[in-house]
Amino acid sequence: MPIPRFWREIEQRYKGIGSRCKNCGEIYFPPRKVCPECRRESFQNMEEYELEGTGEVVTYTEIHEPHQEFEMLSPYILAIVEMDEGVRLTGHLVNVDYDEVESGMRVEASMRKLGEESPKGLIYYGYKFWPIDD
Ligand SMILES: [Zn+2]
Repeated sequence: MPIPRFWREIEQRYKGIGSRCKNCGEIYFPPRKVCPECRRESFQNMEEYELEGTGEVVTYTEIHEPHQEFEMLSPYILAIVEMDEGVRLTGHLVNVDYDEVESGMRVEASMRKLGEESPKGLIYYGYKFWPIDD
């Protein structure tokens, strides 16, 4: 993937910007240019859609031996979260103990920097989730 496109996608992910098909209403994140359901009918018919940033835990696990970049965070909880728009994201679940986590728990998401700049100048981003009451 060419670098400029890589950075544009990082920015979209950072802001939680996906796309919505005006034909069928389906939301995609990361954004798509064409709706796989509507195909030709969706062409030129996709609009930007910003995720609300809230969702619920689908499944989760505790990681005791993380990749060395995440050593400081060990142990941490890795969760798959279904956002209210129906898209699924994977990230770190924070501000909660493992035995307090349950499927269906409401969480809010934010994007954050996980890794440092590599010799190639890339920074790694990931999602962070924390419980909310709503
Ligand atoms: Zn569609």
